[in-house]
Amino acid sequence: MQIGSAIAVSFEKLAAERKQLVQQIAVSIKKLLLELNPVMDFLCKYTCFRCENVCCDAQHVFYNEVDLFFFVGLGVSLPPFQTRANGFQIRCSYWVRNFGCLLERIFRPYVCTWFICERQLEILNETFNNRQKNYLEQLFCTIRRARLLLCSVFAENTRWK
Ligand code: SF4
Ligand code: SF4
Repeated sequence: MQIGSAIAVSFEKLAAERKQLVQQIAVSIKKLLLELNPVMDFLCKYTCFRCENVCCDAQHVFYNEVDLFFFVGLGVSLPPFQTRANGFQIRCSYWVRNFGCLLERIFRPYVCTWFICERQLEILNETFNNRQKNYLEQLFCTIRRARLLLCSVFAENTRWK
């Protein structure tokens, strides 16, 4: 992905302490995302396999800049390609019939993780108590804040555009 390579080059040019900060934020985000895994796995387990309106067909789902800042900060390989070759492609290139998404959750665009569809929301409301729901809400909120911070630290100190 061309933009990903440009971001990676800019990251290498950051001052050592900025680089370290980006890495620390990325590691924190990873930990938070891993905490979300059991919940999202649970919700998907009871819904996705029989879904007739797969959300991976949403044409607007792409990796965004913050997703790429996150991967670069984490020091992992960038995704080999975007979710779609262009805005007209309907189904995501990482989606496989009878399996679903090929990517581990932390390597998907973040929108794929925070999206909870209507059916999943019903299950969540039926099975989770208020304390669990609050915890989940806090988790999403902390991830969102950490991503904003990552974006500001990265973008303020680089000129990758
Ligand atoms: S998250 Fe919801 S809309 Fe998306 S595939 Fe699963 S059941 Fe379908
Ligand atoms: S990356 Fe995975 S979860 Fe996200 S749209 Fe593509 S197939 Fe679906």
